[in-house]
Amino acid sequence: MKTVGPNIVVAGATGRATLYAAYALLERLGCRWCFPGKYGEVIPKRSTLKFAPLNQIEKPAFSYRTFMHHAFVTEETADWIDWMAKNRMNCFLVTLYPAKGYKGQLYSEFKQTPGLLEAIQKRGMLIEAGHHASYVWTPPKEFYEKKPEFFALVNGKRGLVAIEGPRAQLCFSNEELAELTAERIITFSRANPEADIISLYTNDGYGYCECEACKAIGSKTDAYMLYINRVAERVYKVLPDKRISFLSYSHASAPPERLKVFGKNTLCTIATWPPPKVNRLKGWLASGVKEVALYEYYMGSYSDRSFPWACPKAIDDELKTIHKLGLAGVASQCELDNWTAYAVNYWVFARLIWNPTLPLEDVLADYYGHYYAEAAGPMQAYFEYLESMGRFSYSWNVVEEKKIRCNLNIPEKKIRKLDELLSVGEKAAAGKAVRARIRRDRICIDYLKLAWTREDAARKATKLLAAAQLPDAVEQLQRGVKVGRACLEHLQRYRNERV
Ligand SMILES: [Zn+2]
Repeated sequence: MKTVGPNIVVAGATGRATLYAAYALLERLGCRWCFPGKYGEVIPKRSTLKFAPLNQIEKPAFSYRTFMHHAFVTEETADWIDWMAKNRMNCFLVTLYPAKGYKGQLYSEFKQTPGLLEAIQKRGMLIEAGHHASYVWTPPKEFYEKKPEFFALVNGKRGLVAIEGPRAQLCFSNEELAELTAERIITFSRANPEADIISLYTNDGYGYCECEACKAIGSKTDAYMLYINRVAERVYKVLPDKRISFLSYSHASAPPERLKVFGKNTLCTIATWPPPKVNRLKGWLASGVKEVALYEYYMGSYSDRSFPWACPKAIDDELKTIHKLGLAGVASQCELDNWTAYAVNYWVFARLIWNPTLPLEDVLADYYGHYYAEAAGPMQAYFEYLESMGRFSYSWNVVEEKKIRCNLNIPEKKIRKLDELLSVGEKAAAGKAVRARIRRDRICIDYLKLAWTREDAARKATKLLAAAQLPDAVEQLQRGVKVGRACLEHLQRYRNERV
């Protein structure tokens, strides 16, 4: 962005960069996009626009800035793509799960949904096709009978549970399997040229191959890397611009011991499960792979996703750390339908993955000031207290692995305090927009209160049962069931409100 005489020049190295520069200019005028859709827009009204002389060049600290969602396409997906671009995220995942099993959206269904592909392309964003997609490239239904040797040997059996679910892996030493996978990726890429990154993530879970040929290669990661190398090299010869992403996860978490990774087109995504130590990151950075990114859970994982959670400090620490190490980016798992529960994390993640040197307090003050306006102070106090309470279900993180773990076994006074802090925010909210935003936070906290009461009843009932105080135990169990039902009703009532 540069002022030249009476004009402002907004330009970037690519179309996407120019668009992001335009958003940066609008931010200077006070515009913010704190939440997907109109609801989260902050657009000030001004009769005149004034700019101080501008001469600013920005470059993102990380080149891969994305979410790992289980892309069930909804009418809200376009809002989400728009939010991502306005907050300078640059890559959109389209899962390649088989439609059956995960009930996921096949790539073709994504493309057939009107407007979505167009929304991504007009913003110049990248598309990653994949996630846990071994069985998309090697469908058990097609190959299990005629090529059982493609499937992992586990406990003496080939393709254990291969037909039933996505849990078993492939026999990575099989050369024909790698050739076939490469051919299928090439065919897919020609039919879907908009896909920039193709995932070769292993299936979720364990079940890595124990055959002699795989063992002879080295560790389980080495066997997986032989397969990745064969596929990536073949794809590179035909389509050098396509990137192949793979996953450091489960049995293949540790960096390879013997093999160098083919380094022309590969992206290693390191899942924070098991929690990666810095040495694991360094090992992958030295493995020969082209780029290394982190797979995070800043928006929780699966259990009780509707509990509110704030972890700005953990995000800040981690992004600063991995930036210094030289990682290419982060993909954070999330879901579309519970944005409110993690809204502050989305904001901090997007800001800091663009520029992790920004002071966290400025990033937060900017968010609270714009999103909660007159209620900024009390809402900041609410979220700071929430952050101090930790996490209400599992999450993993390089830097603060332990600090962000928590569960509902917390004193009632902490839940009450949280509730009180939100009430102060509610009282301070004068405008309609801010009241609507805090109302969603209220829905989250009410759910947390119900869930806490349910857990409290279960804990008390367990103690009473152990002490053989049956009538009191039954009373607590009945209380738990009643509140459990209220929890379900609450979720049902607000299911469409992105909480
Ligand atoms: Zn094998």
